[in-house]
Amino acid sequence: MTFEELQIDEKLLEAISYMRFEKASPIQEQAIPLALEGHDLLACAQTGTGKTATFLIPILQDLVKNGSQGFTSLIIVPTRELAIQIDQELQGFSYFTDTTSKAVYGGDKGTDWDSQKLAFTEGTNVIIATPGRLMAHLRLGYVSMKNLRHLVLDEADRMLDMGFIDDIRQILSYVPPKRQTMLFSATMAPEIQKLATTILHEPKIVSIAIAKPAEGVKQSAYMAYPHQKVDLITHILEQNPDYDSIIIFTSTKKNIHSIVSAIKKKIRNVTIDGISSDFEQAEREEVLLRFRAKQTRVLVATDVLSRGIDIKGINLVINFDVPRDAADYVHRVGRTARADAKGEAITFISDLDIPKFHKIEHLIERSVDKVPLPQELGEAPEWKEYQPKPKIHHGSNQKNGGKRKFFYRKKKNGSKENKGKVE
Ligand code: AMP
Repeated sequence: MTFEELQIDEKLLEAISYMRFEKASPIQEQAIPLALEGHDLLACAQTGTGKTATFLIPILQDLVKNGSQGFTSLIIVPTRELAIQIDQELQGFSYFTDTTSKAVYGGDKGTDWDSQKLAFTEGTNVIIATPGRLMAHLRLGYVSMKNLRHLVLDEADRMLDMGFIDDIRQILSYVPPKRQTMLFSATMAPEIQKLATTILHEPKIVSIAIAKPAEGVKQSAYMAYPHQKVDLITHILEQNPDYDSIIIFTSTKKNIHSIVSAIKKKIRNVTIDGISSDFEQAEREEVLLRFRAKQTRVLVATDVLSRGIDIKGINLVINFDVPRDAADYVHRVGRTARADAKGEAITFISDLDIPKFHKIEHLIERSVDKVPLPQELGEAPEWKEYQPKPKIHHGSNQKNGGKRKFFYRKKKNGSKENKGKVE
């Protein structure tokens, strides 16, 4: 479906064509018409599906058609990088309109704070904010939300994982009850559904098939002990000299520095950087800029980058360790093979990571090829296939065809008390 068919305003259509979006993606096709009608939305979609445009286009269309007076639209996101990226996409879409926008996130310089305060006091139309920094401004009393008509929670599952729920609840207490709310999440965990019932009004639900890595990603894994991993990276990098954009993900911030310096020692002239939420904002931006510009071949990152961040042309994602949350695997792997391109994802599995990797394979509904470790790296831990535990039927009565069940009443001290039986 084209954007013309979605009945988008001319000014936005022109910008969309400059951005070279030819056809609406599935989520855009399903959700934009509903959002244009003013419905609340509960959308289950991961990064890479085109979800950002799904909420930005209807917001901008409303501002173009019905006027934009002051602070009309608030987009809450988990990370600064995502705030900046959404603001950049918004500036693209709104190029031929009068809409103003500002990304508001925790920074290091006083000037950031002042320019953010100015954005609120001058009535910038669209604010894209991280929860903590937004709360800090709200507490000071100069933010007026009386004109607010749109509220978006992007990557809501990530925000809950990061412990932003209290900030979000507080922010909601400032937002006018009559508004259009759109909630985007990669997963529909029970907490998300609970949040949805409290903030959405008769929402339309749009779900883009459960997160699975794109077809174009070649996935494989090596079993490896921690001490073998850096040598394994060296081996992979040497085997693939034409890969010029590689991300290595690790779950722990403190690993970043040691991985970067170990690789530097092993591979001469490698261009490599690290990035995590511990880095100063200016440094993070610089590192990302260099990586996007392909001045850096390898970027070692924590999951800060695995969600939301859109960098084109990544050839290879290496998971230095298996992510704690299976959905993070999909996000990490999703950094490569974006927009139907080809890409590769390689995961290092240590013996302790095996149960976590089983969960991932269960989520993505396929098993990932386990490649033998190069001989010179020594013996690898053994992969163990999942053996389902035999089911034990407590209280079944074979004489009665196994149909008779006992039921239990929970005693106050938590132990179970056999109360009787039911047919
Ligand atoms: P998102 O899921 O919003 O992070 O979008 C992922 C990438 O797809 C971004 O680079 C978008 O600019 C791009 N994109 C979104 N919608 C379209 C579209 N309809 N056609 C082409 N590219 C798109």
